[in-house]
Amino acid sequence: MASELEHWSLVVAGGGPAGFMAAIAAAEVGLRRVLVLESTPEPLGKVLISGGGRCNVTHACWDPRDLVGSYPRGGKALRGPFSRFAAGDAVAWFDAHGLELVEEADGRLFPRSNRSSSVIACLRGAAQRAGVELRTHTALQTASLGPEGGFALQLRGGEPLRCDRLVLATGSHPSGRRLAEGLGHGLVPPVPSLFTLALRPNPLAALAGVVMDPVELELEITGPGGELARFRQRGPLLITHWGFSGPATLRLTAFAARALQASGYRAVLQLDWTGGRSQPQLEQLLADCRRDQVRRQVSNARPWPELSRRLWQHLLEQQGVEPERRWADLAKRQQLGLIEALRRSRYAVAGRGPFGEEFVTAGGVPLGEVNLATMESRRVPGLHLAGELLDVDGITGGFNFQHCWSSGWLAGQAIAAAAAAALAAAPT
Ligand SMILES: Cc1cc2nc3c(=O)[nH]c(=O)nc-3n(C[C@H](O)[C@H](O)[C@H](O)COP(=O)(O)OP(=O)(O)OC[C@H]3O[C@@H](n4cnc5c(N)ncnc54)[C@H](O)[C@@H]3O)c2cc1C
Repeated sequence: MASELEHWSLVVAGGGPAGFMAAIAAAEVGLRRVLVLESTPEPLGKVLISGGGRCNVTHACWDPRDLVGSYPRGGKALRGPFSRFAAGDAVAWFDAHGLELVEEADGRLFPRSNRSSSVIACLRGAAQRAGVELRTHTALQTASLGPEGGFALQLRGGEPLRCDRLVLATGSHPSGRRLAEGLGHGLVPPVPSLFTLALRPNPLAALAGVVMDPVELELEITGPGGELARFRQRGPLLITHWGFSGPATLRLTAFAARALQASGYRAVLQLDWTGGRSQPQLEQLLADCRRDQVRRQVSNARPWPELSRRLWQHLLEQQGVEPERRWADLAKRQQLGLIEALRRSRYAVAGRGPFGEEFVTAGGVPLGEVNLATMESRRVPGLHLAGELLDVDGITGGFNFQHCWSSGWLAGQAIAAAAAAALAAAPT
């Protein structure tokens, strides 16, 4: 009989950052009987490995209008959620729960300990104090609407459960997408985001390890119908054994994730190595070298100090300038060729490289199917969705966790408020 089944006010499927935040937020404002189901032996597995083991918790981007610019999927639709709980709220939340976050020069925020285990201890401690129960090794297999309202849940290899409200916070795991689909949601097909770019062969392989900052990147992608899409980024670029990595590459591939997938990860990448110097400025710099470095070999005297020596020598070789040639003897044609190579080096992208340190999935449940004030499904009342299961992903820098804190907190608050309202309306 249904009434004999274990009954919970709230079941959260997925013990990741979004699920923990939802459970804690609901329990802290008074909801009792909150259960988190986690299929693996330990919750918060991605938090542990995140940020190279340091966990980049969020980003010092305080205005929701600016924050949304870091989400290739989500974008402006996230203004509403972020106006209720954004990066400043996350910092204050962790502070109130005993975890101080420290800002780095580039705006990323990490725990003072520089260990992701501190973030895990904070979340687990908060959940425990709020009375949240955690069951590990427990996967939610199916969820359906219960005959008396609420949800009937089936655990893999376990007893059935009932709950009044259900949060799906299963990240990019396919089982969560299946659960959402089974309950009537659509899905934007998942594709990887935040990856590096591979060149095969890589003409710059000998330069692996060189970092240039800033570089202007322009990616040209020809779509299946022959249409051309262009994506641009500016920032630090790392040359690797296989191609390109570094923050600017990861941001570029995040925004171009869908177009790249559609083109089979074939594209043309044009790089401007000059840090924004114009054609006349470059002509002047080379003219200065010819005047001031007359007797020095071109390969030993770069036009500006921040230009990597190895990159400069590679460009000289590519332009057919002999290493021993002196500045005084550099022909006009060679000067113009070098300026062109500095401003517009073009490389054929042949595929994805290994992932960057922050790998996320684009795609998931479309935002239009969710009330973004409460994260409640517009299709299934009582069902809430949070975190990476939604069609939201951010660029590298703490933005993916920020979306988990925001969506989880909103879901938890709304669930507790709905339960309190139902209690107040119930006949005494
Ligand atoms: C190597 C790496 C480093 C990263 N570093 C950063 C970083 O520094 N900063 C940042 O902002 N982002 C980072 N990210 C991205 C970030 O980790 C994710 O965006 C975030 O973890 C998503 O949180 P989530 O709660 O939605 O899902 P997840 O963290 O994936 O958690 C979902 C949980 O649900 C469980 N689960 C799945 N299906 C079921 C089921 N049916 N029943 C029960 N449990 C289930 C899973 O085991 C998992 O524990 C990184 C990602 C990776 C891979």
